Amino acid sequence: GTSSSSDQKPRILLMGLRRSGKSSIQKVVFHKMSPNETLFLESTNKIVKDDINNSSFVQFQIWDFPGQIDFFDASFDYDMIFSGCGALIFVIDAQDDYIDALHKLNLTVTKAYKINPSIKFEVFIHKVDGLGDDFKMESQRDIHQRTADDLNDSGYDQIHLSFHLTSIYDHSIFEAFSKVVQKLIPQLPALENLLNILNTNSAIEKSFLFDVVSKIYIATDSTPVDMQSYELCCDMIDVVIDVSWIYGIKEEQEPAALDDQSSSLIKLNNGTVLYLREVNKFLALVCILREDNFEQKGIIDYNFLCFRDAIQRVFELRNKNNSPGTSTASN
Ligand code: GDP
Repeated sequence: GTSSSSDQKPRILLMGLRRSGKSSIQKVVFHKMSPNETLFLESTNKIVKDDINNSSFVQFQIWDFPGQIDFFDASFDYDMIFSGCGALIFVIDAQDDYIDALHKLNLTVTKAYKINPSIKFEVFIHKVDGLGDDFKMESQRDIHQRTADDLNDSGYDQIHLSFHLTSIYDHSIFEAFSKVVQKLIPQLPALENLLNILNTNSAIEKSFLFDVVSKIYIATDSTPVDMQSYELCCDMIDVVIDVSWIYGIKEEQEPAALDDQSSSLIKLNNGTVLYLREVNKFLALVCILREDNFEQKGIIDYNFLCFRDAIQRVFELRNKNNSPGTSTASN
């Protein structure tokens, strides 16, 4: 069942000044809005809780705080909000003067840390699409330096912040979210290990385990990620979903974009193949391999079935270990 696992879903808070881009990020990553449509998003004044449980493997909630959040306002239950939170993403508009934002960041992070020191703090230096490379790097360095100084001054130099350069106009926002989410997945080492084994046994160069709805990759093998490969795999998911929505829906089934038998193949003109297989309701594996090696498709498919079984077991094990009254087995 899924009832027990939804109780332990990691929660992500998305915070930042008004107009920094929070709603746009949420809409683009989780609701397939195109970046240009975000120009017409209405500003909000209330805390918006977006629960995306049903469609996505990544079971977290986004709390969208308005920019002028007041920590001395007694009507917000910060204890509750921060204690149930796995990661706090603070969005900074890099195209704007960010001094105010950094001040708010410091207040937010120290407040949250006092309540829950295990929160992962993630800073999105956002809207970098409008900036030249030099300016981008300089802003990042400057923001890094100032936040470190501020934390030092307030006596919190033990707080660790991670920084990401993001934009909704390219894949950087998905890449950043992937890294944030991966820190919240306890099974990550096991998943990476399984992907490494799959790659070795099937002569695969690179593989990603995707949350299909958000295009966040929840794990990849231990070879370095290059953005181009990641973008290719994201594009493949879009293509496959578009095509299966058009041709794949059988009347008596609930309309899922991918099903058990889903597999897709795209040959690129540089001798490379993209291969997609559905893992479960939420997850898909996308692999990049040499076309020559794809001639062993039977072996790859067999290895994939083993891989899928193992993934299933990894998640079942976790649910078992977390059910009430069960202590973690040690041997
Ligand atoms: P919120 O108040 O923090 O929720 O901010 P919104 O999501 O409403 O965004 C404010 C404005 O920033 C909108 O006009 C968006 O189109 C724009 N925006 C958001 N993300 C980006 C980005 O990555 N690049 C650029 N250039 N504009 C962005």
